[in-house]
Amino acid sequence: RVEASVIYTSTSEDFFQILVLLYDVTEIYAVEKMQMDFLSNASHELKTPVTAISGFAETLQAGAKNDPETLDQFLDIIQRESKRLTELIQDVLSISRIESQSISQQKITDVDVSNLVDEQLSTLQQMTSVKHVTLINQVPLGTVQRSDEGKLVEIIKNLVSNAIKYNREDGSVTIDYAVDEQQWTLKVTDTGIGIAQNEQSRIFERFYRVDASRTKQVVNGTGLGLAIVLELVQSLQGQISVESQRGVGSAFSVSFPVKQ
Ligand code: ADP
Repeated sequence: RVEASVIYTSTSEDFFQILVLLYDVTEIYAVEKMQMDFLSNASHELKTPVTAISGFAETLQAGAKNDPETLDQFLDIIQRESKRLTELIQDVLSISRIESQSISQQKITDVDVSNLVDEQLSTLQQMTSVKHVTLINQVPLGTVQRSDEGKLVEIIKNLVSNAIKYNREDGSVTIDYAVDEQQWTLKVTDTGIGIAQNEQSRIFERFYRVDASRTKQVVNGTGLGLAIVLELVQSLQGQISVESQRGVGSAFSVSFPVKQ
């Protein structure tokens, strides 16, 4: 997309001179469009639970509360939708916070990566009980890298909780570490439902979720987790990639430059 402005004209007897400046505004428009899409998707997603909550509350007030079974059922829905609303608000705020943060606001320190993974796995342990998923930390003890600890925590938490959510019964989640002169990598591998080839690039889009009818499981989520991970990884000058096979499992790798 190009915008033009005329900055000079002159006419003489024989010819006409004009100087036109052309600007390539493709990127500006793309960023603007992304922001508009995000706002409209976010307001749509936020309205859905609010509509459900107020609708069910009104129906209860109109008399449905007199039937104890309906009362219980509707209160459950109201509670579930409130939880969803809270998660959505937290994720939308996370994205805005990461976007507005400049690189100078990063807190780069020596991070004990193995310890950090251990801590996150213990926090997420409670999620594993339903499907008996085993969590395995393969990061060598004493692995230290310079990074922003808060951002790493968010990245690991999001990737590992997805690896648990989309896993199978008695499955596992393994976190591996690799390093060379330029970069260090964490790889989160699961034994879950996998992601079809044509969905693999779309899952990083904001609010994108693989259709539940195709995954044959209804799993709660906002569709913002991987978009948040992508933003965080990019803010640390890193890269993210996914390898996956339907019915076998997925592996998400995040790589960061080695900093002295
Ligand atoms: P959600 O809140 O839906 O988990 P994410 O942005 O974290 O949102 O993920 C987007 C979609 O990518 C998910 O809805 C799911 O379909 C798919 N996905 C993410 N991680 C995995 C995984 N480890 N295994 C299989 N599918 C996954």
